[in-house]
Amino acid sequence: MSIPPIPSRAEHLAAWRESGGKLCAAFPAQYPKELLWAHGILPVEVWDPPLAATRAPGHLQPYICSVVRQGLELLLAGAGDEMDIILFPHTCDSMQNLASLVGDYLKPKATSLFFYNPKAPFGQPAREFYLDRLFALDRELAGLFGPRPEGALEQALAWSRTLSGLYAKAYDLRAAGGLAVGAAEFYAVLRAGEYLHPTAFIPLLDAWLAQAVGQPSAGERIVLSGVLPGPEDLLESLDALGLVVAHDDLLSMSRRLLYPPPGEGEPLAALTESFLEMPPCSTRGSSLAERLAWLKSLAKLSKARGVVFSVVKFCEPELFDLPELRRGLKEARLPSLLIEVDVNQAAGGQASTRLEAFREMMA
Ligand code: SF4
Repeated sequence: MSIPPIPSRAEHLAAWRESGGKLCAAFPAQYPKELLWAHGILPVEVWDPPLAATRAPGHLQPYICSVVRQGLELLLAGAGDEMDIILFPHTCDSMQNLASLVGDYLKPKATSLFFYNPKAPFGQPAREFYLDRLFALDRELAGLFGPRPEGALEQALAWSRTLSGLYAKAYDLRAAGGLAVGAAEFYAVLRAGEYLHPTAFIPLLDAWLAQAVGQPSAGERIVLSGVLPGPEDLLESLDALGLVVAHDDLLSMSRRLLYPPPGEGEPLAALTESFLEMPPCSTRGSSLAERLAWLKSLAKLSKARGVVFSVVKFCEPELFDLPELRRGLKEARLPSLLIEVDVNQAAGGQASTRLEAFREMMA
């Protein structure tokens, strides 16, 4: 199956800018993109810019993850000057430190905004806090760019509902063995949503799904867990070795994409309920028991026989949970493999050899 033509990031941003739209560099991980759409702003996510890390390491401790390092590298290269705003969600301590570094010292032309996500448990105080943060961000955006047009937020939520349905369909089909595509293609298409506006991404995803239905290649089914679906050579190795990614528990993917569609009530309250019901995640403060139960349920649903953890080096939230998760999976007779990766570096032949050995062990 060939991947449909996906507009490049540069092309899409240039076209958006030309049409008078505003741009936001959105750092990982969870943020209310619907609010940005409603204000006519295109969020462009910054996860793993493909740049040589030359300047950023001089400003960061050596044990900072490559997501933060590459994000800073991008800003030091001047990318912030092409944006209208830079949004830093409160994902982890490293991201929080980056937000302070950029806001206090780097001072790019774009306005830096901070978005504080509440952490679990998600009871009434978290609900009220999140709703309050949504109103605050809405006010900040209105202060910068004027009030959002009437009906724009309702339209943004309608896009969000459609996307929620398409993501769920893609994941359900894959888990049920009904998608004839490998991991490299699956993630190349879904990751286009990190920068395409929903008016461009919804038809693309819809058309791709219609073509992608079919029998997957034979192989050992696994769940992929971690931060990002990459590096690229890791996905190619999985496909080539017959390790079929049947589901994932990736921070940039299912933990954000499998959100319940926002309801029809007051839009910001509906977004709050949707946020509170997202899958468990190390960066949301979910309990280990919840995360373990979630991983086991993904494996059961997708008939996966093992879990591959592809964890970004020095990612404190992920690495902190890992020993207990692996212990619990072992007790449930689900073998696991840990591969540590840097987002802008190939995983390499050694990772491929370890994946091959893992497949043999599961067979
Ligand atoms: S990779 Fe981990 S440590 Fe780095 S920004 Fe993401 S959650 Fe934070």
